[in-house]
Amino acid sequence: MASTTSTSTDRINIAIDGPAGAGKSTIARRVAERLSYVYVDTGAMYRAATWYFGQRGIEPEDEEKLLQMLPDLVIELIPEPDGQRVVINGQDATDEIRSIKVNAKVSRYAQVEGLRSRLVALQRQMALRKGVVMDGRDIGTTVLPDAEVKVFMTASVEERARRRFNEMKEQDQITMEQLIQDMARRDRLDQEREISPLRQAEDAVLLDTTNLNLEEVVNVIISMCRSFVRVRE
Ligand code: C5P
Repeated sequence: MASTTSTSTDRINIAIDGPAGAGKSTIARRVAERLSYVYVDTGAMYRAATWYFGQRGIEPEDEEKLLQMLPDLVIELIPEPDGQRVVINGQDATDEIRSIKVNAKVSRYAQVEGLRSRLVALQRQMALRKGVVMDGRDIGTTVLPDAEVKVFMTASVEERARRRFNEMKEQDQITMEQLIQDMARRDRLDQEREISPLRQAEDAVLLDTTNLNLEEVVNVIISMCRSFVRVRE
């Protein structure tokens, strides 16, 4: 594969949104590598908060207590060659945040307004100097409405479930049927919530990745960046 980097003076921000399992994180990480940009996985931040409060027995409905404890939550996303480590208040929780338990609860915690505003503020800070590829649900609409490139990535629900299954560590504890149901439930909660629901920004490009391989999707996004940055082949 040809190595591709952008020139450092003309950095942009890239927002990638879409439903669960559309392949956003793998694609966003690859695009960031190609451009020598920073990848920010905002889903991991909501997952980290879910794990942290879950460990302490604080349910999303107990908003007052949750917001009281929020200032103590410290999330570190540490890039690694084949992914990232997620460290929560000094404890490595990389695998735990992808567990079935966290999957089941994350979209309920993601509805808590005070938690969202804190995470959105952190995400905006990370993108201040540009050169960021950020993936999530509300990046193009709320977090980075001025991002130069916005993509809304989807795939059929079966394909999304298949991709998510391959990422999971607890494959023996869940069937494909259950995974499809879990994803459909999470999509519904994300689309129907009041604050920053999952939806395509008006100026985002819709990209259906069902029949595209990873490299093809990365190339489409890189070519969208070319009108803003000089990409060296
Ligand atoms: O991207 P991932 O599937 O890891 O995200 C987990 C959950 O976190 C989503 O289903 C959604 O409820 C929440 N989320 C969000 N806003 C984001 C990123 C994730 O509400 N920007």
